[in-house]
Amino acid sequence: MKTIFSGIKPTGTVTLGNYIGAMKHFVNLQDEHDAYYCIVDLHSITVDIDRVELMNNTRALAALYIASGLNPEKSTIFVQSEVKAHAQLGWMLTCLSGMGELERMTQYKDKSQGKDRIGAGLFVYPTLMAADILLYDAELVPVGDDQKQHIELTRDLAQRFNSRYYETFKMPEPVIAETGARIMSLTSPDKKMSKTDTNPKGYISMLDAPDVIRKKIKSAVTDSEGIVRFDRENKPGVSNLLEIYSLLAGISIKDLEAKYDGLNYGVFKADVAEVIVAELEPIQQRYHELIDSEELDLILDQGRDKAELVASRKLAKVEKAMGLQRKR
Ligand code: ATP
Ligand code: MG
Repeated sequence: MKTIFSGIKPTGTVTLGNYIGAMKHFVNLQDEHDAYYCIVDLHSITVDIDRVELMNNTRALAALYIASGLNPEKSTIFVQSEVKAHAQLGWMLTCLSGMGELERMTQYKDKSQGKDRIGAGLFVYPTLMAADILLYDAELVPVGDDQKQHIELTRDLAQRFNSRYYETFKMPEPVIAETGARIMSLTSPDKKMSKTDTNPKGYISMLDAPDVIRKKIKSAVTDSEGIVRFDRENKPGVSNLLEIYSLLAGISIKDLEAKYDGLNYGVFKADVAEVIVAELEPIQQRYHELIDSEELDLILDQGRDKAELVASRKLAKVEKAMGLQRKR
């Protein structure tokens, strides 16, 4: 049994990309491991976000975690800002990191591109993410492929801390699936599907109504070849839809290519949409039962208490190692 940590930001609604790249793995890993799944709201304030929207998103994400199959008996599900040690350790690790290594983060480069004002929080955000992981001595971190670089930084910081002070942190490893780790945008299949895309047609939200899903898939960008064939380089749109279909229906891409041999994109897309609808409908139903329930608050209270216990113990060790203590 290993310790697992991962999180999703409550910025916008969770997408099919988050579901396939992260959440589905969270569910699979909880049976065999000691898992902590966090709603990382302190990461959401690295960009401007309305306070009421943030509160609603936080609750919605918690409900979606559970509706997707996270079991509070097996996993610790909690809200990041409710466990103060995250921000505290985040600061300590910020002080341990260099401007140069943070500047090299490709996600920072992407997210700050074209902005007149770049928040300092966006710049140091990977150090907070490192704190999230290291607080729990997480050994495995299930993430999408875009987070690989941040886990490498986390390992560097852990190593630096351990050698500068004394052995305090465990080395985490990313768990990145071979397929589905980068679901692409439906409108620009050269970019990853992202919940903060300004064009909602680019992503499927986990709470999109069936007809919205059908419309979005129907208008998804493909190509003019007219053959359902996997070729990520030359046919990124069709390949992305094939990957989604394959992962959700449990049919290999080879078998799907054979199934749609001689059929046009219209038929193929209609089936992709139905596979997504069938996956999301039961999740949406459970979500609606949970969203205003007291059950949800009880789960989050329990999660916070458990996380708090583990995190505060680790923080005390870090403070001691760094000399953040009064001499008596
Ligand atoms: P944002 O654009 O605000 O960063 P996001 O969709 O990337 O939103 P995050 O909260 O940053 O969402 O990421 C949550 C998890 O989902 C991470 O593990 C991330 O790697 C994974 N993930 C995000 N987008 C995709 C995608 N398109 N395909 C697969 N996994 C993804
Ligand atoms: Mg992201």
